[in-house]
Amino acid sequence: MIPVKSYAAYDATNPLKPYSFERREPGPNDVQIEILYCGVCHSDIHTAKGDWGPAIYPLVPGHEIVGRVVKVGSEVTKFKAGDYAGVGCFVDSCRTCANCKAGEEQFCEEGMTGTYNSFERGTEIPTYGGYSTGITVDESYTLRISDKLNLSEVAPLLCAGITTYSPLRHLNVGKGHKVAVLGLGGLGHMAVKFAVSFGAEVTMLSGTPSKEADAKSLGAHHFALTSDAEKMLSLSNSFDFILNTVSAAHDYNFYLNLLNTNGTMIVVGAPPAPAQIPAFTLIMKRRSIMGSLIGGIAETQEMLDYCAEHNITSDVEVIPMDYINKAYERMDKSDVKYRFVVDMASLK
Ligand code: NAP
Ligand code: ZN
Ligand code: ZN
Repeated sequence: MIPVKSYAAYDATNPLKPYSFERREPGPNDVQIEILYCGVCHSDIHTAKGDWGPAIYPLVPGHEIVGRVVKVGSEVTKFKAGDYAGVGCFVDSCRTCANCKAGEEQFCEEGMTGTYNSFERGTEIPTYGGYSTGITVDESYTLRISDKLNLSEVAPLLCAGITTYSPLRHLNVGKGHKVAVLGLGGLGHMAVKFAVSFGAEVTMLSGTPSKEADAKSLGAHHFALTSDAEKMLSLSNSFDFILNTVSAAHDYNFYLNLLNTNGTMIVVGAPPAPAQIPAFTLIMKRRSIMGSLIGGIAETQEMLDYCAEHNITSDVEVIPMDYINKAYERMDKSDVKYRFVVDMASLK
């Protein structure tokens, strides 16, 4: 077994603290990775705090993992020792259902095996995430990482990147489309970069006035403050798509009214409480509301390759592991520009 240092939530209310445990030695299809960087996703906070239901404690969050391959199993073909590798939100799935076969393992009919807050398939061994010094993962659930980009800035692509890339691709968003991105955090800033890169006209809808200049430098063509009633009224019926990344309770109806006829709100943000959607807001303009969950392994690789080719990465604030509780507090106040990434060297 491989000894690993990490930070874990021990319950829903107290700060994360150091935790030591062991990873499995690599089996024939496994890749053993020394973790170099791990992004901090708002889902880590929701899960640690039990927002979506009780968690498996101790909980080691983190699903935006990049590192270096230390050792590979005898059957591994995609990696060799010394390569860079990435791990996203899941580390296994059934591999046989229609969704797995279609490369959409995130929708596995038996449920994907989460990188944390899950159990290794067919066992009662909890999975532990990337706020740790190492991880062992089947090569089929491990991504190749280009050495062209800055690794700390690549880590957030493994969740924030694919979560925003996937629905924009699914809907063929591009030239001629008016897209609004709601919420400028980790997902929001990647959504702006991708939507702009795909050729859409992009408006940032944010509740934080000080983010206007940043939104523009990220590439957004327009900025609208969600608390500016007059401005919001002027944007009624104007967007083809709204990519909603908001993590907390908010009025969906207010934003649905900004969609034009046939417009779609893509929900990726996952607030703990259900939303109220009046039927008439949808009916009167044939509007839709859809959800999207991360992306499959093949599409995640496609996104990483696209980012390497187009020089797209996340804007990060690199932090030591022991800053994590402060980072959570700041994210709860929308004070992040635009992704915290833990430098795992701080834990060794
Ligand atoms: P984040 O970095 O904390 O950003 C969330 C942003 O939402 C904030 O920066 C803020 O933007 C806005 N916001 C926060 N509270 C708000 C409120 N009360 N009303 C209006 N806007 C508010 O979070 P993230 O990591 O991007 O994650 C966003 C959400 O997506 C989380 O719920 C997360 O769990 C979920 N998620 C879903 C998937 C998926 O596959 N569907 C994947 C990853 C994450 P402004 O300052 O601009 O207003
Ligand atoms: Zn995430
Ligand atoms: Zn499956």
